[in-house]
Amino acid sequence: MSNRRIFLKKAGISTLALSLPYANTLSAMHTLHEDKVLRVAIMGLGSYGTRVAEAMKDCKRAKLVGVVSGTPSKISDWQSKYGIPAKNCYNYETFDQIKDNPDIDVVYMTTPNSLHKPHCLRLAAAGKHVISEKPMALNAAEGREMVAACKKAGVHLLVGYRMHFEAKTLEVVRQQRAGEFGETLFFQGLSGFRIGDPTQWRLDRELAGGGSMMDIGIYSVNGTRYMLGEEPVWVTAQESKTDPVKFKEGVDETITFQMGFPSGAMASCLSTYALNHLDKFFLNGTKGFAEMQPSTGYGPIKAWTNKGPIEREHITHQTTQMDEMAAIILDGKKPLIPVDGEEGLKDLVIIDAIYEAVRNGGKVKLG
Ligand code: NAD
Repeated sequence: MSNRRIFLKKAGISTLALSLPYANTLSAMHTLHEDKVLRVAIMGLGSYGTRVAEAMKDCKRAKLVGVVSGTPSKISDWQSKYGIPAKNCYNYETFDQIKDNPDIDVVYMTTPNSLHKPHCLRLAAAGKHVISEKPMALNAAEGREMVAACKKAGVHLLVGYRMHFEAKTLEVVRQQRAGEFGETLFFQGLSGFRIGDPTQWRLDRELAGGGSMMDIGIYSVNGTRYMLGEEPVWVTAQESKTDPVKFKEGVDETITFQMGFPSGAMASCLSTYALNHLDKFFLNGTKGFAEMQPSTGYGPIKAWTNKGPIEREHITHQTTQMDEMAAIILDGKKPLIPVDGEEGLKDLVIIDAIYEAVRNGGKVKLG
């Protein structure tokens, strides 16, 4: 390869782009920009962290370059599996040193819920962008602290809302925003699975912050907001528990909840750890409907409207998510449905209100 070609390749400028007579500078800059890759460290090498790491193998703009883990054997496994250099490996005591590592742009926290806030604050102080898994924190107060810390540090805080980039979801949202269903006055979100091992952190109030609502019900909370395109002004909620041994005080098994919106629209939702095959969204308007089932699982998602099925290619959600998050962080791209800390906080405010409504049995006003 000639020196000129090597230079252009390193600079991310294609020789073809330069050989075109017009707008070469712009084209070259564009190429440069798009060639930037988001360098990601995953914190918490458990089941979801592994899924994200595997999905990132197909990313065009995001690359797994580092890890944070308390288990040395996992670190060495991941190093050999993903080619991660020792200098990009940290544990929970040492990860503040990431501030001196110019080769990591962002840390993706795939740890139990209660760790998101304290680790986010440390990462922000280290000057790194943060991606938090959902729920972003245990409650809105924690969420506000995270948003403020990242704002102060001038780093992005994003939440792993993979459905915000899923093609069929985006098509339903596009049709809703275009008025194709008329006035959308009703949404139903059903989110649940039957949870196994009673000793897992998801059933530990300290680590999970609650029960099914924090883990799976959040999909219906979040889905209601992006499907209707409005923020609720009130919530009501009811709880049921069939197994008080497995689901201890403060760990919800099943909650039904309702939300009201400024337009007059209402949502009726179910969050549960007691039922399998429960993953359905239904949106009804004055002129039509959209239905999705499964609606938030790993896919393929199925969606149809009163006009027929919605067909889109299934791409691993986390692959699209990480490429899109690279564009948000590196290019300032604004996604159709936000995934920033403010978005995560909106769901936490509603979840706080749902728990309050369960406790007081009445209507909790929002906003
Ligand atoms: P997991 O138990 O499989 O993994 C959690 C990891 O955190 C483990 O590697 C564990 O060793 C580590 N960890 C660090 N400190 C810990 C501590 N004090 N206690 C327990 N574990 C500790 O859990 P998961 O299913 O990977 O979930 C992790 C996060 O990802 C959760 O916030 C969850 O809600 C979220 N999640 C999101 C999706 C999604 O589709 N977006 C799916 C699954 C999980």
